[in-house]
Amino acid sequence: MESLDSPLPEAGVEFSALLRDTREKVIPRLLQWNHPSFFGYFPTCASFPGVLAETLTAALNVNAMLWKTSPAASALEAVVLRWIAQLAGCPGEADGVLVTGASLANLYALAAARDAAAGFDVRERGLAGGAGRLRVYTSDQAHSSVDKAVITLGLGLDNLVRIPSDDQYRMRPDALEAAITHDRDAGFTPVAVVATVGTTSVAAADPLGPISDICTRHGVWLHVDAAYAGFYGLSPRLSGVLEDLSVGDSLVVNPQKTLFVPLEGAALYCRRRDALANTFRLVPEYLTSDPDDLTFDFMDRSAQLGRSFKALKMWWVIRTFGRAGLAARLDHAVALAEDLRTIAASHPDWELPVSSPYPLVCLRYQPRAVMSDPGLTDEARRSLLDTLNASILADLNASGRAFLSHSVIREGYVLRVSIGNIRTGADDVRRLWDLLCVTAEKHLAEVHP
Ligand SMILES: *Cc1c(COP(=O)(O)O)cnc(C)c1O
Repeated sequence: MESLDSPLPEAGVEFSALLRDTREKVIPRLLQWNHPSFFGYFPTCASFPGVLAETLTAALNVNAMLWKTSPAASALEAVVLRWIAQLAGCPGEADGVLVTGASLANLYALAAARDAAAGFDVRERGLAGGAGRLRVYTSDQAHSSVDKAVITLGLGLDNLVRIPSDDQYRMRPDALEAAITHDRDAGFTPVAVVATVGTTSVAAADPLGPISDICTRHGVWLHVDAAYAGFYGLSPRLSGVLEDLSVGDSLVVNPQKTLFVPLEGAALYCRRRDALANTFRLVPEYLTSDPDDLTFDFMDRSAQLGRSFKALKMWWVIRTFGRAGLAARLDHAVALAEDLRTIAASHPDWELPVSSPYPLVCLRYQPRAVMSDPGLTDEARRSLLDTLNASILADLNASGRAFLSHSVIREGYVLRVSIGNIRTGADDVRRLWDLLCVTAEKHLAEVHP
């Protein structure tokens, strides 16, 4: 902060100074999300065509709010939305819109679901004017953006029902059915079920088939959050093993995560036609246009008015690589993750507490020296291992040679190795593994000499 803070400049500075300060003071203090040794969170990786298109987008500075404000931007958005749905294995009729991230997509889907389910006019009367007993169901593994959406929509976290997950961290359909039935009997109105394909901690996939059956039976909106995993069905290694994303009423997939498109850009689909517009369409005189049967205004499908031209970068990326090129790159990440799992599984000091088809590998260092130490109670052992794994992560990240993130699951603190950057190769994963082993042994010697 100190080295960047300076008084408001009265006169403009030289471009060369701007560039130098950016290079010397800003870039060294940024996490390099595009780096091949970035293994944190989920990939959010910009490919070269995506970067070029993003630059061009800024230069054109198009506002894609109404069809008439930039017909080609809206037309391209419609085309790209159709392609992205096909890439996610979810073709068919739906209202789509590109939004700034999956968090907002979840919010918009739940807003539409709320208004469809409430049984009174939420737009006019507000939640306080209605029954106020609306409920959303999701698993205990759902992304925090679901919580935020429920808060923002005024539903209240008390009305977000967290369905327990099974031993592989998937939502339990039996518990979902019981919760909905119980709430119905108690006078609540179920608004939506949010199922996740590719959970944030361990990349588990909720069983969409049974969940969708329950939703159909109870007439409840099913929103599928496939922000991370939505495109991995393209990977030949995973064909046939993944969930069918087409069963929900709404779906979000996130090109900014795993489709090599630079921030920001997520795709939201809603198969209940006009439900998004019923919630978000509001046209003051100055925004009137005369859309015909073939055109519509994207501002009607989200809370945003001014909208950047996100379709261009997606169009460039998809056309540059083609479906096959994207599939090959996603498959490569899946293969690298499989290799890492194999190496780690054959090492006596490392555990893979949970498995996932996706290229997210959760590792826990559980060295024999600690596991077989008779002087430790179970609780002390778990706590020692948690500390050990946390210090491995901190040390490795501080080294600047790779970046990982973590989660805490039932088995304890785990290191998440998320593979999927476009430039990540076998050497990068091998180097990470060597670094993990060396760092782990160093910390073991310190805490358990
Ligand atoms: C990343 C992620 C989100 C949030 O996405 P943003 O685009 O960062 O808002 C929501 N849900 C899941 C399952 C995710 O993986």
